[in-house]
Amino acid sequence: MAYDTNNIFAKILRREIPCDRVYEDDFALAFSDIKPQAPVHVLVIPKGEYVSSDDFFSTAPDAEVAGFCRAVGNVAGKLGIAENGYRLLANHGADANQEVPHFHVHIFAGKNLGPMLAV
Ligand code: 5GP
Repeated sequence: MAYDTNNIFAKILRREIPCDRVYEDDFALAFSDIKPQAPVHVLVIPKGEYVSSDDFFSTAPDAEVAGFCRAVGNVAGKLGIAENGYRLLANHGADANQEVPHFHVHIFAGKNLGPMLAV
């Protein structure tokens, strides 16, 4: 799938629409999810144009992958959620119901998150 430069996260990166900014560095931007599913629900997105985790992990330069992973850790540190725990999630494609076609990692925290998947 080609990258859609008009997806909502591309617009957030270009500051065309606002977000509740949590963290930013050269590789990533983190902001609160507009429909939080946990007391802490933050999205971390790379600055580069990648459709999904599958695209990012297979095509991004090593420095961008490393920088993005460090950023996720930095966000967790900034949020102070490491001690009690948190969950990372990335949806890729139709079966995962990926909604926004710009790679993003969800960070969930702030309570016991229960089982990983609803059955
Ligand atoms: P996905 O299903 O693609 O993994 O998750 C997309 C997430 O983006 C959803 O949790 C949704 O609530 C969030 N989202 C969609 N549009 C916006 C927006 O305009 N601003 C913010 N902050 N989050 C959004």
